[in-house]
Amino acid sequence: MRVGVGTDVHVLAEGVPMWVAGLHFPEEPRGLVGHSDGDVAAHAACDALLSAAGLGDIGSNFGTCDAEWADASGVRFLSETAKLVAGAGYGIVNVAVQVIGNRPRLAGRRAEAEAALSAAVGAPVSVSATTTDQLGLTGRGEGLAAIAVALLD
Ligand code: MG
Repeated sequence: MRVGVGTDVHVLAEGVPMWVAGLHFPEEPRGLVGHSDGDVAAHAACDALLSAAGLGDIGSNFGTCDAEWADASGVRFLSETAKLVAGAGYGIVNVAVQVIGNRPRLAGRRAEAEAALSAAVGAPVSVSATTTDQLGLTGRGEGLAAIAVALLD
């Protein structure tokens, strides 16, 4: 058994579609800025899986400046990551992701988010969320963060 950890942060900006945990939140006036779709939950999960497998991180595998991955969805990164993990001889037991920030409110769509990420990974992914009592970059609404752990066998 091997565990891995991943974190990600993206900045929030007006007029950018909000994609997080594999879901689009059309009511959000601001979204996450990134070379890809900025899905912090999916990206943290990728880093946790790669970490657990000893395969580096999302930047070393996918090239964050690589044109192939421009605007790639978080779930695409996750499904590609799952292939790399399988190729290294590991099975994915589960992944847990916690999103840290004020918006969007994930509680009402948690089951949908878990279904989207689990389908991409091919194993159970749990999604939770928390805020930071208005402290720090997430509390001030400057960005959204996520932390993830993955277990492989
Ligand atoms: Mg990212």
